[in-house]
Amino acid sequence: MHITIDGHSGFCSGVINAIKTAEEWLQKEGTLYCLGDIVHNSEELQRLVQMGLKVITYDEFRQLHGARVLIRAHGEPPETYRIAKENNIEIIDATCKVVLNLQKTIKQEFEVDGAEAQILIFGKQGHAEVIGLLGQTDGKGLVISSLEDIRRIDLSRPAVLFSQTTQDSEMYRKIVEAITEAYTRQGHPELFTHHDTICHSVSNRARQLEEFARQHDRIIFMSDAKSSNGLYLYEICKKSNPNTHFVTSLEMLPSIPADSSESIGICGATSTPMWLMEKAADLIRQSQPNIHPNQNH
Ligand code: SF4
Repeated sequence: MHITIDGHSGFCSGVINAIKTAEEWLQKEGTLYCLGDIVHNSEELQRLVQMGLKVITYDEFRQLHGARVLIRAHGEPPETYRIAKENNIEIIDATCKVVLNLQKTIKQEFEVDGAEAQILIFGKQGHAEVIGLLGQTDGKGLVISSLEDIRRIDLSRPAVLFSQTTQDSEMYRKIVEAITEAYTRQGHPELFTHHDTICHSVSNRARQLEEFARQHDRIIFMSDAKSSNGLYLYEICKKSNPNTHFVTSLEMLPSIPADSSESIGICGATSTPMWLMEKAADLIRQSQPNIHPNQNH
């Protein structure tokens, strides 16, 4: 049996920064509030909670006064910053730079064209990043989650499309095509503009994973079920290699037959810690009677 951990898997730069920021404050102060899960991975979250991180909901945030609160990589709408100011809350802002730039671009677009144009966001309704992006349009933007949502666009007015950073590139392309067609049917294709704002960390990883999945007999894809890019990247692996397992915790690892000669690939989402994938590899090795513990590192 041969086990390989995908070298491109593990946290993206936005998640690395948020976790590093949290760890620095926790080492200094022993405790820190975080608005929502800092990372969509329960094992990593648990590690940080043990260090003193206190994850709070939006209701709890509204009740909080004079505290220090970390904003995670997904970013927040302006409303969150307003509440923080009113409640004398110090914000530790770990919004990913890529998301921050996207928020700024949407805000500018809305300020210039907002009254006239419709701001469309291709993303998952209710996702934290999407809420932050919608906030830049005073909540007037339209979330496009599927091809059916295109019917909600007013084709007599201009529309500008952006994407949540962790969305599926293929689906984005289909959405662009369908909206272009709809405007063309009205005789005004010029009214529609679009900006592919999918993060390279996700789109590049999708291409690499396609290749990685093909190279192995079995793929163990590790991710939390709440992770948008996790679900997307898992589908990419599954398409390339039908023998792909979606694993959310070490307890869910598939049992590999003793003395198997399979080649096993372990990979994950941008929110899957490398230590978790290494632990999974160790557990699989330990389950094989004739494999040396350090083999395939
Ligand atoms: S996936 Fe991209 S945009 Fe999202 S947090 Fe990671 S680096 Fe930032």
